Amino acid sequence: MFVGMGASKVRDLFKQAKEKAPCIVFIDEIDAIGQKRDGRVGGNDEREQTLNQLLTEMDGFETNNGVIILAATNRPESLDPALTRPGRFDRRVPVELPDLKGREEILKVHAKKVKLEGSVDFNRIARMASGASGAELANIVNEAALHAVRENRSIVTQADLEESIEVVIAGYQKKNAILTDEEKKVVSYHEIGHALVAAKQTNSAPVQKITIVPRTSGALGYTMQVEEGNHYLMSQEELENKIATLTGGRAAEELVFNSASTGASNDIEQATKLARAMITRYGMSKDFDMVAMETVNNQYLGGDTSLSCSAQTQAEIDRQVVELVKKQHEKALQILADNREKLDELAEYLYDKETITGDEFMQILNS
Ligand code: ZN
Repeated sequence: MFVGMGASKVRDLFKQAKEKAPCIVFIDEIDAIGQKRDGRVGGNDEREQTLNQLLTEMDGFETNNGVIILAATNRPESLDPALTRPGRFDRRVPVELPDLKGREEILKVHAKKVKLEGSVDFNRIARMASGASGAELANIVNEAALHAVRENRSIVTQADLEESIEVVIAGYQKKNAILTDEEKKVVSYHEIGHALVAAKQTNSAPVQKITIVPRTSGALGYTMQVEEGNHYLMSQEELENKIATLTGGRAAEELVFNSASTGASNDIEQATKLARAMITRYGMSKDFDMVAMETVNNQYLGGDTSLSCSAQTQAEIDRQVVELVKKQHEKALQILADNREKLDELAEYLYDKETITGDEFMQILNS
């Protein structure tokens, strides 16, 4: 409501706040008025006046007058430095994606709104929903409730919640999408390829579930990996293993059918992103040492990056990214070739069952 209202409404707001103290003034999406003033002639005068008024009001605050100002933004880096300077806002509270414990607690909060089976294991669900935001977790509980209703039950079960993770993360099950027999075979090998490469590398997360039931998101198959704990630090070896796992799907197709399909496009995208980050941002290339070749512009919104090096270096980066992915791709091919019997056995099993659990997978692998 600040936009278009000008400085007078800011003055009015703070006048009211002082009258009603103790109270809290909450400004959502503060970047709408708090963006950096660019000093251009004929810039957005209206907005600048509003911002100036806000700054004046904040300066006029005595510490104990009972008015607390809270503001939220998704783009902290776009705010005018005058707003973020010490003395304006006393504290900054970055709201990151929740960790395992956080996810568990968030799920519990949302689950209060539905009737739950007594034995629901929130920790397990939180583990499976690695990387989910608070809104996605709320959505998972909501989807689980809808799932229960569709089956005429009044109580939400563990299975409802697990199914809804996939709904939220991978899109609704496409019950009537029909894969040809050949496609089903290819997808089975592709997914087992990922899982087998992951399982055979020591530090990879164990596989939770593998399915070849198509999703509306467009994914034909899906291998759900579970991180054993939370980790913020990943070693070079773990990153390389992750790239190898991503190439495992295509590697299996090559090994078995001697051809490639379009099914690996998302894997390729992810592997490239990881490899590029290792070289340009994590200092994991001998040649570039600890020099940043790329800077992240906005770590809160998608993290788009921009290169900060010469064209010649860019070409060298491209070459090293290819080399890195290639090496891991070859490793994945080797792992699968060494375990060809298990690959066939597991792919056949998945082809028959369409969805198998991590336990089933490990049982066959270790038998
Ligand atoms: Zn894949």
